Amino acid sequence: MGTGIYVHAFRDGDTVPMDAAAVREVLLPYAPYDVPEGEPVEWVRAADGSDADVYLHRGVSFDRPGPGVLDIIAELARRTGAAIVLLADPTVIVTSEEDVRHLPEELRVRAVVVPPAALTGQAIEQVVRPRPEPRRRPMLPPFPYHPDPVATGAVTTADESCACCGHDQGWIYTGPVYGEEEPDGRLCPYCIASGTAAKRHGVFFNEVEAGELPDEAARQICERTPGFVTWQDWGWPEHCGDGAVFLGAAGARELRPHPDALDDLRGRCTEWGWEAEPVERFLAALDKNGQPTAYLFRCRVCGTHLARADFT
Ligand SMILES: [Zn+2]
Ligand SMILES: [Zn+2]
Repeated sequence: MGTGIYVHAFRDGDTVPMDAAAVREVLLPYAPYDVPEGEPVEWVRAADGSDADVYLHRGVSFDRPGPGVLDIIAELARRTGAAIVLLADPTVIVTSEEDVRHLPEELRVRAVVVPPAALTGQAIEQVVRPRPEPRRRPMLPPFPYHPDPVATGAVTTADESCACCGHDQGWIYTGPVYGEEEPDGRLCPYCIASGTAAKRHGVFFNEVEAGELPDEAARQICERTPGFVTWQDWGWPEHCGDGAVFLGAAGARELRPHPDALDDLRGRCTEWGWEAEPVERFLAALDKNGQPTAYLFRCRVCGTHLARADFT
């Protein structure tokens, strides 16, 4: 379940405070800790082991409830007659037509009536997720120099035909394509991995600096490895006589566990004549999703982490 679920009582278009004692009575058996006398329950755990943080204000909110917690939410709504508000959609579940009339106007159109006897966690789940089963997608081909292109965002699920093979493979490449004639549409990762896209369209996906890498590695990285957008051009890093493995964009937080990568960046800054203090400021300002961004790599041979960055 995505985000939060609220249980709220409504009267004449407004929320009314819920009876704290009644809420406590319903939730207390599910509290996995000793709740002090008179205090609201702040944490519940369901029979299936799923749990949620609970906040009592005018209504009761459940933070990221698991499947079993939905049953507790259903019970709370049944016992108090309050509405269940699903924040993501937003959708409201009430137990009678009468209750619909008490909702604020903008929520009335979103209301789903589920009679008390049918109001279970499963019923909530069905309202939230009426969507069909997600499509099963084939395994991605291996990319030795960019092993998890889904995590890095270079490949994403899509129901879309590949501009090279013409098939809807369930996955599509979203990264940069370099070359004189770009294909008319996006490419599937299989056509990238096999080298077909590079051969047929004369395109490549990553820049490497001449002479930095062994020829075979350079060819594989250029022609058969998903790329990623950088603001500046820097060649694909080399270590121990091979191209490094790209792990993803990184900010200061993502680099913290990898002092070797930070040292790599520090060394580069120093080579360019930066003073120590601006270097540390620069490293602290690195942002995975903003500017400046760093790119994390790992040596295929010795495991050392390396990093490159856009120096803007
Ligand atoms: Zn294809
Ligand atoms: Zn190495």
